[in-house]
Amino acid sequence: MVKYIFFNGSYYPEKTPLLSILDRGLCFGDGLFELIRCIEGKFLLFSEHINRMKESATFLKIPFPYDEDDLLKTAKELVVKSRITSGELYVEITRGEAPRYHPFPEKAKPNFFMVLNPLREMPEECWKKGVKVITYPDIRWQYCHLKTINLLPNVLAKERAKQRNAYEAFFTREDSNETYFTEGTSSTIFAIRDGILITPELDNILPGTTRAAVIKIAKKMKILVKEMRLYLKEFLRSDEAFLTSTVSEVMAVVKTDDIQISGGIPGEMTLSIQSEYRRFIKEHLQ
Ligand code: PLP
Repeated sequence: MVKYIFFNGSYYPEKTPLLSILDRGLCFGDGLFELIRCIEGKFLLFSEHINRMKESATFLKIPFPYDEDDLLKTAKELVVKSRITSGELYVEITRGEAPRYHPFPEKAKPNFFMVLNPLREMPEECWKKGVKVITYPDIRWQYCHLKTINLLPNVLAKERAKQRNAYEAFFTREDSNETYFTEGTSSTIFAIRDGILITPELDNILPGTTRAAVIKIAKKMKILVKEMRLYLKEFLRSDEAFLTSTVSEVMAVVKTDDIQISGGIPGEMTLSIQSEYRRFIKEHLQ
């Protein structure tokens, strides 16, 4: 199978060398990315992902001259060319190529590329039985609302999780000697306490597309949702917990470090939100 890359307007076989070593994404991490689910050749929450990238690009003053409908057509072309119908569309934009000097270059043109990869293999057990997570200090910066390609803290945290046989690492911050959660390395955190769904407020975290969908779904299910600071102490006492992301969807968390949550099995509300979300997916493919 030959995968194709869409790079600055043209299609190339996957291994074609395309990026210069002077690309600012490589030199400075000066770029953004998105990961979009492809299901049956269609794309989940495509507009939401592209809008998030566009807003972040505006914030960073990276030109974003792409039309969403054209991008969707291109993504569908990658489905045909790469013969992948169940996958993960990786989209990246960098500020472009310029001599290595920190300030924004005057003449650089952004590099934009998309590649459709097959969906990573994950056992269905993760959704049925839930997963373990670890806690890890949030050593990132003040602009975590941007989905930048600067992912070293996330890489270190996820590597630690892997070493501990955990699925994900949840970042923690400290305030007045209290520890609270921000988000996972590539997921959003949810807890359920006394029937109320709690998720960290949008305070220096990524506004997850799945997070927004799950909040909408929960409200439709008449579940009270609170977006507020989620302290570790309270999380450990929660009745149920789960994480969300484009790839993980809604996945129960049954252990944090060595502490069992929800009796070590996915809670009932988590499982109903999980199946509602799967229904939602079918209705939101573009
Ligand atoms: N938080 C972080 C730091 C992420 O990187 C991601 C996804 O990669 C998420 C949350 C979940 O976002 P989404 O639901 O849009 O996949």
